Amino acid sequence: MEQYKQEKNMDMLGTSRLSLGEGKHLIDRLEREHGLANPEMAALIESNCPELRDYARVKARGIADRQYGKGIFIRGLIEFTNYCKNDCYYCGIRCGNAKAKRYRLSTEEVMACCREGERLGFRTFVLQGGEDPYYTDERMVELIRRIRAAHPECAITLSIGERERESYERFWEAGADRYLLRHETASESHYRKLHPHNLSLERRMQCLKNLKEIGFQTGCGFMVGSPGQTARQLAEDFAFIRKLHPEMVGIGPFIPHHDTPFANEARGGLELTLYLLSLLRIQQPDLLLPATTALATIHPRGREMGIEAGANVVMPNLSPSDVRDKYSLYDGKVCTGDEAAECRECLERRIESVGYHVVVGRGDHRGHIRCGMTPATRTPMAFLN
Ligand code: SAH
Repeated sequence: MEQYKQEKNMDMLGTSRLSLGEGKHLIDRLEREHGLANPEMAALIESNCPELRDYARVKARGIADRQYGKGIFIRGLIEFTNYCKNDCYYCGIRCGNAKAKRYRLSTEEVMACCREGERLGFRTFVLQGGEDPYYTDERMVELIRRIRAAHPECAITLSIGERERESYERFWEAGADRYLLRHETASESHYRKLHPHNLSLERRMQCLKNLKEIGFQTGCGFMVGSPGQTARQLAEDFAFIRKLHPEMVGIGPFIPHHDTPFANEARGGLELTLYLLSLLRIQQPDLLLPATTALATIHPRGREMGIEAGANVVMPNLSPSDVRDKYSLYDGKVCTGDEAAECRECLERRIESVGYHVVVGRGDHRGHIRCGMTPATRTPMAFLN
């Protein structure tokens, strides 16, 4: 198919393809032991083929069903600012992109998104944005408090990049529950290819550690097929995830944006993304694993295929339609013109088309429950697991 010509097939030097039997054997071991040695994981990833993908998909979906049933959690994504002080080479809202049309939602606009979201059945709001210096800790705390007060039954997820530990603590105290911060790649050399020198993998990982310690349900993640990525590096991502043991992992294909240094790079593959979703589910059964917008962007049934591969979360857009096309991380992003209600209906149909249903609820990680309404009394309950 024309659409897939541009897909990137990995440049996987130094590892060798496994036989089908060997591959299945490793997938079985991944299920039993919840991890593989890096060279084994790299070989398993490199051996990506229809038969192994099927084998992993069926196993992964079975595990997800046992962990979370037939319910799919939905999150309302509010892209509240596209100002960013960082210059990540892959991202369309990098500060170096002078062509990006910048916007910031007002507090009232964010509150209106949440109201509409709650009406549509969302019980989690994800505030995502660039690293926007306008949003000082004080302003974030104020925004979190407002949402917390207006929507006591809803979870608040932040995805606003790297901050000091004290800032994360203040957000937690104000009532935020979860935090998404993709590590992007666990390989130091690969991290250097994707980011300018003022950013560091070490700092990113420290942020993730801080978030977990504070008690946030924490999500890391990476792009699939980002420039220079190899199977060995993906194996490092799996090892890092095993060590961090996050509540959530977000992965999606890298998709080039025309106004970035990676404009002419190939995009990440659909099949590889689905295979990695399944392997993540098998490695860590209790994960909250989204079928991402990037996946939906590279295939019309991307979200459904993601669910079939083991995902159990979808995060449609709640941002006002007039700003959606401006939150342009990559080219061709889906649903940029739709109203929130349209997205919600379309999503419901898509999820039901593969035999699942939308859950109206906070959709917490299995190991976390919220104890009472006051943020100060919330305790991470991971030990219950
Ligand atoms: N500023 C926040 C949110 C970043 S946007 C933070 O630093 O966490 C959310 C994610 O979009 C990023 O973590 C990155 O993995 C992904 N992303 C950015 N550019 C992309 C691209 N060109 N293709 C696919 N995913 C991309």
